[in-house]
Amino acid sequence: MASYEEVGIGDAVLLDEISTRAFVENLRVRFNGGKIYTYIGEVCVSVNPYRPINLYGKEYVSQYKGREIFERPPHIFAIADAAYKAMKRRGKDTCIVISGESGSGKTEASKIIMRYIAAVTNVAGQQEIERVKNVLLQSNAILEAFGNAKTNRNDNSSRFGKYMDINFDFKGDPVGGFVKNYLLEKSRVVMQQPGERNFHSFYQVLFGATDAELSRLKLKRDVNAYHYVRQGGTPRVDSIADKADYKSCQGAFKTLGFSNEKIDAIWRVVSAILHLGNVQFTGGGDETLISNPEVVRNIAELIKVPVDAVMKALCHRVIAARGEVMEKMHTESEASYGRDAFAKAIYERLFSFVVDGVNTAIEVRVEEQDRRYKYNTVIGVLDIYGFEIFDKNNFEQFCINYCNEKLQQLFIELVLKQEQEEYKREGITWTNIDYFNNQIICDLVEQPHKGIIAIMDEACLNVGKVTDELMLEAMENKLKGHNHFTTRKLSPMDKELKHVEEFRVRHYAGDVVYNVKGFIEKNKDTLFQDFKRLMYSSSDPVISSMWPEGAKDITATTKRPQTAGTMFKNSMVALVKILMSKEPYYVRCIKPNDQKSPVIFDDQRVTHQVNYLGLIENLRVRRAGFAYRQSYDRFLRRYKMISQYTWPNFHGGSDRDGTKILVEEQGFTNDVTYGNTKIFVRSPQTLFALEQGRAML
Ligand code: ATP
Ligand code: MG
Repeated sequence: MASYEEVGIGDAVLLDEISTRAFVENLRVRFNGGKIYTYIGEVCVSVNPYRPINLYGKEYVSQYKGREIFERPPHIFAIADAAYKAMKRRGKDTCIVISGESGSGKTEASKIIMRYIAAVTNVAGQQEIERVKNVLLQSNAILEAFGNAKTNRNDNSSRFGKYMDINFDFKGDPVGGFVKNYLLEKSRVVMQQPGERNFHSFYQVLFGATDAELSRLKLKRDVNAYHYVRQGGTPRVDSIADKADYKSCQGAFKTLGFSNEKIDAIWRVVSAILHLGNVQFTGGGDETLISNPEVVRNIAELIKVPVDAVMKALCHRVIAARGEVMEKMHTESEASYGRDAFAKAIYERLFSFVVDGVNTAIEVRVEEQDRRYKYNTVIGVLDIYGFEIFDKNNFEQFCINYCNEKLQQLFIELVLKQEQEEYKREGITWTNIDYFNNQIICDLVEQPHKGIIAIMDEACLNVGKVTDELMLEAMENKLKGHNHFTTRKLSPMDKELKHVEEFRVRHYAGDVVYNVKGFIEKNKDTLFQDFKRLMYSSSDPVISSMWPEGAKDITATTKRPQTAGTMFKNSMVALVKILMSKEPYYVRCIKPNDQKSPVIFDDQRVTHQVNYLGLIENLRVRRAGFAYRQSYDRFLRRYKMISQYTWPNFHGGSDRDGTKILVEEQGFTNDVTYGNTKIFVRSPQTLFALEQGRAML
């Protein structure tokens, strides 16, 4: 049905053959021809071009603005525009869900969408709206500085999930927004794999701060002097301009209205973490000492607490037992564990603080009485980690993959729901088609009492007694016979399960073997109370405010904090609820190769992604219904020239009547259904024939 110069097939629904092979082949042809976007109906598949492409300029904006998806070649602008139009014309809250694996282009896609929205709004040029747009766009520089890092898969990998709402006023102009972050990969703060880096912020300050700033932060301009940033062995990366990025980040802080005190405190905390990584302990007997106290002095000055207090918190813990308060000296390994837990916790807290600051800046600023009129609709953009299968999969991958199960569940519900609703609206009968419903896997993870998270939580309740291995045993007992869960003990003949401490989940996207080592610790996520009190005691009000719970008295009975797993589960349930309430649009990102090359299209890698993104199922669902639907007036306008009854104009009745006459004359009656306002065409062949009919004239 392409009316424009097209390479391959722009909408995969129109492929002759529905198979993974044909689908991937079409993506390859298009990728080689510089076409990175392909539709499956209204879902946009995007293949990372790994080169700057001239697709996003003003001329493209004007081509897509206000048009229908199928009028122009596939483009992410069309999706952004559809979400925007639905929001503006129909007053619907919409969301754009961007998914795909690391390096597939999700964050770039989210920025392209934001820039498109900025480009098509505020035609009147109001100052306040311009400010909001600027703030929304610049918030990315800050979030990326603190939440992104170089990994072996992506030089600018987001290590957190992000959901952002953009609020619009009744005229359809952006008036503010809100960011919600999910599960920051904080283990990176203290440890990086070879070839990887810590979060960008550390390198930005080391390479970008002036000499005077560095000396105030007690830092040397030498990455290799700091344990927490040198483990990956690649402190400098060609594609990353740390110095310039530091400037942009500082500029963004200013634009977003972060006070100088806040900005200063933020970099002091970052620097304190760098120093913390260098703190070393010597043990022996029952004494644990710090072998480099000068480092601790720097930390104390930076976070504005007495140096003795830092020393104490690092080497001891205060415990309350039966109303008595006692001090207990850490062993050397407890002290090292505590130091790293402290570093991770401060960074995580700092990240949340920065996100809060961004939110304060982008908060909708309107008078209370105007609220009703001023912002009533939102577009949400979700840029969240994709399904991960590594050689070794841990607690983090477990959470991330569970997140993807939830999103797949949502996709199934919404895509089917949308189709069904449309058929209902149009008065067409529809029979459900078969697809794999992954609810069973969501249940496996999240069910109360017998789900994996519940079993993990139970293990965490038994302080000190339960090991990761015992927790696995509990899982084996409770989940024996579950189709999507197994372990070596449960399936001794299974070659894939090499170690006893592993379990395998059959995810919708494929099998993943998780190693339980560290699960309990990561789920418990304990930080000694001493550190919280230490941070709260800071004489810097900004730092102190990040740690309100440090105010608690040591003897106060504390409620058991929620585990990391349960918190994540709750945040996912909440996210799904938010997305459910909106009209969804999907961008599915695909990574063409692992070399970051603009010319390699790795069939095997792409096939794998197509499979686990469920794209073929998506295509089938779309095709089982009707490949194509169009309102009668548009349909007639497009094809009227192929029938003598409708050319140059149809005078015998409504557009619907005209459509009917045309379709009957062409012999396609059996392949179409007439809805209330639209014609539905089942097979793409019919559409091809119609298109050909046009082309031959
Ligand atoms: P992660 O899950 O690791 O955060 P991601 O899916 O967000 O990965 P991006 O950071 O968006 O991936 O993209 C990785 C890199 O790919 C970008 O830094 C950029 O170099 C390139 N890239 C992605 N999309 C595009 C595009 N549309 N045009 C040009 N280059 C792109
Ligand atoms: Mg990203």
